[in-house]
Amino acid sequence: MISERLKRLTPYTAGEQPQGREFIKLNTNENPYPPAPEVSTALEAFDPRCLRLYPDPACTRLREAVAEPLGLSIENVFAGNGSDEVLSFAFYAFFDGARGPVLMPQFTYSFYPVYCDFYGIPYRRLPLRPDMSLDLSAYLGAGEACGIVFANPNAPTGVAVSRSEIERLLARAPSDRVILVDEAYVDYGAESVVPLIREHENLLVVYTFSKSKSLAGMRLGFAYGSKPLIDAVFAVKDSFNSYPVDSLAQVVGTAAAHAGAYYAEVNRRVVTTRRAFASALIERGATVLPSSTNFVFASFPGRAGRSVYAHLKERGILVRHFEIPGISDFVRISMGTEEQMGAFLAEVDRWMKHGF
Ligand code: PMP
Repeated sequence: MISERLKRLTPYTAGEQPQGREFIKLNTNENPYPPAPEVSTALEAFDPRCLRLYPDPACTRLREAVAEPLGLSIENVFAGNGSDEVLSFAFYAFFDGARGPVLMPQFTYSFYPVYCDFYGIPYRRLPLRPDMSLDLSAYLGAGEACGIVFANPNAPTGVAVSRSEIERLLARAPSDRVILVDEAYVDYGAESVVPLIREHENLLVVYTFSKSKSLAGMRLGFAYGSKPLIDAVFAVKDSFNSYPVDSLAQVVGTAAAHAGAYYAEVNRRVVTTRRAFASALIERGATVLPSSTNFVFASFPGRAGRSVYAHLKERGILVRHFEIPGISDFVRISMGTEEQMGAFLAEVDRWMKHGF
């Protein structure tokens, strides 16, 4: 009964969402702080009678609310059901394997190759520098390609490239190939390239409300780009599902988009926690990559990443481990509250004294 097409696919594995036991949950880069008070107000005012009707298929108010603070117009914004969905639409819209592979970093968001396999798009992974930073100049010398995708800051490494490096890539790459920059974690310390979409018709930026807007459960993702690119993403959406963003998500997302001051404060706290936590790990002998995100990618000398993950899980702390050669020594640790990160450090101290 199963298609050959599906049998050939290896789906993405999402981070665990444990349903029974209580964990200190540092494995899927959720925000430890609640959504803005404006979101609660919008939820309280939500009239369930409106659920009788289909939602606005164009997400007009939500897109206006998101566009305004970025200085964009609504035609530069697409809204979808989480950025995973938006990425998938974008891969379909812009990456055409007949024109060569999609180029992506060797270590990056592991959903990108899954979309490629899903749509039958070839891809090529380009090595990171030894310090795990992206070498964007390598993408120019990589031969014919149908497009480029990378996350900035990158995941799961947490390492960012500067806007000027991306600007150099845009200036020299063919202007008829899309460069997709996934800015899921941009609010934790990287420079957004959204201001460049006016000059570069081939730049698509994907963004999510799951991390810095504390709305992972609401499923809201966005694409920003020139009108031709956004129209193309709409064309994919309208060939797949007319209403991916439900009425409640549109109202909640609009409220969150108007709560910039609250989120700036919350994200500052996360960054403060990350800085202190990264220093504390380094003091304890760990290797910690420089992070511009709400997580750190760290390895502990003499301990395989898998065993660190397993030990912490047993002790009630959930982190993410990738059994991928080249990064298997590391674990990815999302930033929780200061108290949660204190509990993590206490656990490290315990194992340094007594072993696992
Ligand atoms: N991009 C990156 C780099 C991510 O880490 C994630 C979270 N797993 C996503 C996109 C997807 O986020 P969401 O679908 O929740 O918007």
